[in-house]
Amino acid sequence: MKRAQLFQLAQQLQPKLTNWRRDFHRNPEIGYEEVRTSGIVAEHLESLGLEVIRNVGKTGVVGLLRGETDGPTIALRADMDALPIQDQKSAEYSSQVEGKAHLCGHDAHTTILMGAAELLTGLGRPKSGNIKFVFQPAEEGLAGARAMIQDGVLENPKVEAIAGLHMTPGQDTGTVGVSKGVAFASADRLVIRVFGKGGHAARPHEGIDAIAVSAQVITALQNIASRLVDPLEPVVVTIGKITGGYMGTAIAPEVEMIGTVRTLSPALRERMPALIEQVVSGVCASFGAGHEVIYGDGYPVVVNDLGMVDLLTETVDGLDWAKGWSSISPSTGGEDFAFYCEQIPGVFFRLGSGNEEERTRYPLHHPMFDLDETAMPYGVGILSSVALEFLARNTTSEGERTK
Ligand SMILES: [Zn+2]
Ligand SMILES: [Zn+2]
Repeated sequence: MKRAQLFQLAQQLQPKLTNWRRDFHRNPEIGYEEVRTSGIVAEHLESLGLEVIRNVGKTGVVGLLRGETDGPTIALRADMDALPIQDQKSAEYSSQVEGKAHLCGHDAHTTILMGAAELLTGLGRPKSGNIKFVFQPAEEGLAGARAMIQDGVLENPKVEAIAGLHMTPGQDTGTVGVSKGVAFASADRLVIRVFGKGGHAARPHEGIDAIAVSAQVITALQNIASRLVDPLEPVVVTIGKITGGYMGTAIAPEVEMIGTVRTLSPALRERMPALIEQVVSGVCASFGAGHEVIYGDGYPVVVNDLGMVDLLTETVDGLDWAKGWSSISPSTGGEDFAFYCEQIPGVFFRLGSGNEEERTRYPLHHPMFDLDETAMPYGVGILSSVALEFLARNTTSEGERTK
């Protein structure tokens, strides 16, 4: 099998890919509720004759394409969950579920990996080594990757490397973007409560105004990035939700703020809880208010393994049908692919899904998000090629391991 032919085969899958993706798009399921989706995935993998395990990490599915002899195992990963956001586009395949939609392209990720499983299985068993197809639940904030790892997805056979992709509307269809090293920020949840003292709005000095204190807290938090952390180290502290108070004529006794903290360095991530506590406690104390900071353990930084980045870029360079790759800056978005990268060498790359049509250019999580479906065969072809290249590099032509 010539690598050139892989893309022809992937393109032949286009009608199937489009059908799968549109079906998932019409029937979105959010984190840990992907029962219908994972059922379709599992049936497909079983129909290909793969070894299939259901209910890994609650609603995840794993398929194994076992080689003729023992050898290294590479995993390819897709996420399956949708977002709790109302779909606002009017397409034949718009979400049919009120308040839920595939606005992060995970329907395409699932579809691409189903296609890769079909394509690679069609080539026959690898001479040596295995390919594991990992369909995980709950990427959007609920750490489905961690649940899969806790359920043993990286064992039996032991996975030595992993690759995954994300649809990217800001890149032209089929192009690859990859970060050498840090690829996605850590994403930790932050809850801050400010405790004041209620009273009449006309006599604020008799109470402790939790809203006024919170305003100072929010402003002070921005000084962490500008005054307390090295300006060459990116950090984001965003308060995205704030609740408190009863009415315009009463002093609010309590305020709750919910936000997110992003860093591009594991070391800075570790420092952030103490810095936030320092700022919040200082500001609150200066107004006589009490406080509570709850720092949620979110997603670590995604760090691409440089050897895996080379594997990806050299593979793409060798594919005459591919649209090339470029080195991109890390994203301040979060990705639970980070949990795999903490365990084994991994590479997570961006696959362009935008064309000249406006509908394909809305950002991820936008209620109008959509994608160029002809990007999917590129995903199938590139992921499949990466897996084959990994096995080829780590075994001899006789099928023995090289390391
Ligand atoms: Zn997302
Ligand atoms: Zn996503």
